[in-house]
Amino acid sequence: MKKERITKKRARYWYELLPWAFLLVALPVSYFVWDSERTFEFNTKGHVFQSQLNETSARVASQIAKYQQALYSMRSLFDSSEFVSEHEFKLFVDDLLNSNVAFGLRQVGFIQYVNAKQKSAYAPVTYLASTKAHAHFKSAANAFDYPSLKRAMELSAQYNKAVMTESVGFYQFADVDYTFVLPIYSRLDIHRDKTIDVDKQDVYGWVFVDLDIRAILSAVLTGAEETQIRYALSQNSSLSSTTLLYENMSLPDQDSAFNERKLIELSGQNWSLSAQSLPAFESSLNAISSRANKVGLVALLITIAVTSILYLLVARLRTFDALKRANRKLKLSDERWRFAMEGSGDGIWDWNIEEDDVDYSKRWLEIFGYQAEDVQGTLVEWESILHPDDRPLVVTALNDYLYGESGHYSLEYRLRCKDGSWKWILSRGMVVARSEKGKPLRMVGTHTDISQLKESEEQIWQHANFDHLTGLPNRRMLYARLEREIEKCKKTNTYLALLFLDLDGFKEINDSLGHDQGDVLLQQAGKRLTDCTHAQDVVARLGGDEFIILIPSIDDDALKHLEMIAQKVLTTIAEPFDLKHEKAFVSASMGIAIHPEDAGTIDELMKCVDQAMYESKSRGGNCFTYFTPQMQEKALNRLRLSNDLRSALTNNELSIEYQPIIELRTGDIYKAEALLRWQHPDRGWVSPVEFIPLAEDTRQINEIGNWVFAQSIQQCQRWRETVDPRFQIAVNKSPVQFMSTDSAHSAWMSALSKTPEQGGEVAIEITESILLESTGQVGSKLQEYRKKGVQIALDDFGTGYSSLSYLRRFEIDYLKIDKSFIANLEYSAEDRVLCNAIIAMAHSLGIQVVAEGIENQQQYEILLGAGCNFGQGFYFSKSLPPAEFEAYAKRKTVVSLVD
Ligand code: C2E
Ligand code: MG
Ligand code: MG
Repeated sequence: MKKERITKKRARYWYELLPWAFLLVALPVSYFVWDSERTFEFNTKGHVFQSQLNETSARVASQIAKYQQALYSMRSLFDSSEFVSEHEFKLFVDDLLNSNVAFGLRQVGFIQYVNAKQKSAYAPVTYLASTKAHAHFKSAANAFDYPSLKRAMELSAQYNKAVMTESVGFYQFADVDYTFVLPIYSRLDIHRDKTIDVDKQDVYGWVFVDLDIRAILSAVLTGAEETQIRYALSQNSSLSSTTLLYENMSLPDQDSAFNERKLIELSGQNWSLSAQSLPAFESSLNAISSRANKVGLVALLITIAVTSILYLLVARLRTFDALKRANRKLKLSDERWRFAMEGSGDGIWDWNIEEDDVDYSKRWLEIFGYQAEDVQGTLVEWESILHPDDRPLVVTALNDYLYGESGHYSLEYRLRCKDGSWKWILSRGMVVARSEKGKPLRMVGTHTDISQLKESEEQIWQHANFDHLTGLPNRRMLYARLEREIEKCKKTNTYLALLFLDLDGFKEINDSLGHDQGDVLLQQAGKRLTDCTHAQDVVARLGGDEFIILIPSIDDDALKHLEMIAQKVLTTIAEPFDLKHEKAFVSASMGIAIHPEDAGTIDELMKCVDQAMYESKSRGGNCFTYFTPQMQEKALNRLRLSNDLRSALTNNELSIEYQPIIELRTGDIYKAEALLRWQHPDRGWVSPVEFIPLAEDTRQINEIGNWVFAQSIQQCQRWRETVDPRFQIAVNKSPVQFMSTDSAHSAWMSALSKTPEQGGEVAIEITESILLESTGQVGSKLQEYRKKGVQIALDDFGTGYSSLSYLRRFEIDYLKIDKSFIANLEYSAEDRVLCNAIIAMAHSLGIQVVAEGIENQQQYEILLGAGCNFGQGFYFSKSLPPAEFEAYAKRKTVVSLVD
């Protein structure tokens, strides 16, 4: 999957813009608040500044007004008396000087107007009001000499009011002085009524105050603002060094924040008071701006805080929305998953662990046959339908998974259906939601109905571990159990006994009554064995008619009673079996081996028990034999012998001897039986009774048999020439050879086909048991042999089943009466009767009879008398090597010819 497909675009919501929109508005507002706060405070300060200026200028004006007032009070002195002496004036002025208007006064006095008619134009009467008295004033003959003063005096006289001089004229003293004058009229009514026109004639003089502007102003300005505001008083509206009357300090270096000017109009004088703020005053401005900053900062902080809150809110909302969306998606995928799962035929369960609520799908209900209303959906309910045997395992598995002990949850167990039956299910599940602390919150999973699978599994297991016929454990199961029991023995120091049984004579029952009945017998035998053993014992069928009883965990005492058990088993088996139409009798050959005495491993134990059984068999059956080390020895010998046999043919250790078969009536020898001989390099002659079964077991009999056959044909051809043209050699053919593949059979046939014209040179000796094989294969093979001119002889007749019906069905040429019937012929009337019957019966079927094992003349004569056709036995001759046989046969022929 490409990466861009994985990184999906995150969903956007309109409210995500909210914090930014707010910030966009709030930031300018904060700035505005800050700015307006600053401006407001600045303006307020400006007002303070302005009012201070106003106040100062008012104070200046009021102070000047006080001097004006002083002038008027002095005029009132003149009003009160017709003549004011210098002394009176002085007293009055002294009072004035003692009052609070006294500061700033340089001179207080009276200027008398002396008109021209009098001697001097002006004769000022002055009074020195201060130590700074100016003599020139006093001495000045004419106050009109001072233009400024003159103009003020004239002006005041003209308008009857106090008039101030300009300061001009006084600058040379570096002091700024003003003189304030008020006319005194000789007519008193003028003083009182100002509407009366004045006449120069009426002027009597002027009272005046000489003002020290600096002193006045410095007194007026004494206060806090002195250091905060620079004041400068100038003569008229323009402020310059030439017009400057007073300044409380020199000009500041830097620009001032506030700069104002106030005009003061005073009795003809225009003064201008300018004020400039100084750093001391402005320092409070910094405080203002810091307050504005604070306000601004608070606004900014509020903005940031609100923005943050909004942002958090938005984030929360976004998470909430995303969660909602995810939930929607989850639900959708949940539904899809359910759909898919339902489609697969599985039942789905969805367990809300916190609320203990289990939700089952429709399919789930179907599987177990429940209706929706039957199910509550709780954990307890689920546990209640859990199979009791499975519960501990399932609960542990579930807990292990939930609490992290195991990585997955998948197991098989049984649940109860509505109808009470149990269903095997495969339960798989996973936790799909956990709390932040990892606590499982929700688990979902499936239940797959595996009942059928389990059933087949069970069948397969049964098939693999149990014998289908008897229902008993089979070899595989036995071995598994043996393994466990051997382990247990080792731990508990106990013994274990194995009883191996092989039924005697079962094959005959099987062959004669049919496999069906054989099977019934085996079933019954199995049941009998189970019945006479304990529950902890194991009875197993190994196959065919072989059974094993395993008796586990036995102690010394029990070991002593083993024989009793063995005997009981033998007795039970020996009882007649009820088959379909008849009762059948079998017995058992039993071998017993003990672990650990006899062997430590399963294989060895099985070998021991097999050998012991074999021993019982060779003892004639229906008995039990304990394993002994000698058996082992015997078995070992058998093994060695069978190994040696492999090389016997190539090493020329095998040879064939021929035993003559005499025609009893004539004494002619034109038949012989080929008998195999083995000259073992170490052991000498080994009997065919010993090695033929080994050769059969290892299937070497095929090769050996073919060799004997080929040799016999050759030999026969020779003896047809040298002994008798009718010569025939009988060759034994074991059942194994009949059962073997066609190649062996065709080898015989090809050997025959080389000489088809000389048919009858070979007879095959077969045992009865071959004829019992019901496959039809034997019959067809025999027919083929007969077509090639091979005759058939039934060997060892009387020891097997001796069924006459077979003689009829298969075309048999000779019947060889077993030597066990002949051995006691001369003594046993019964055997004689039997032999007579056999001979008569054979002849009636057109079969010739050969008697085996004739050892004496009596036997010979009885058989001859009974009409037996041929005889074979030590009475005539043992088996002989070819050369000796030829000599014997020739001699015998000669003798018979002579006879
Ligand atoms: P069988 O076919 O019944 O052979 C006759 C056996 O009786 C021979 O034993 C023979 O030596 C023995 N016998 C002959 N006359 C007398 C007698 O008067 N008294 C006594 N007590 N025994 C006598 P042998 O040679 O030991 O062979 C035993 C068996 O081995 C044979 O029994 C036959 O079944 C089998 N056998 C021998 N050679 C062959 C062979 O080439 N092929 C096969 N398949 N079996 C063979
Ligand atoms: Mg024979
Ligand atoms: Mg025989």
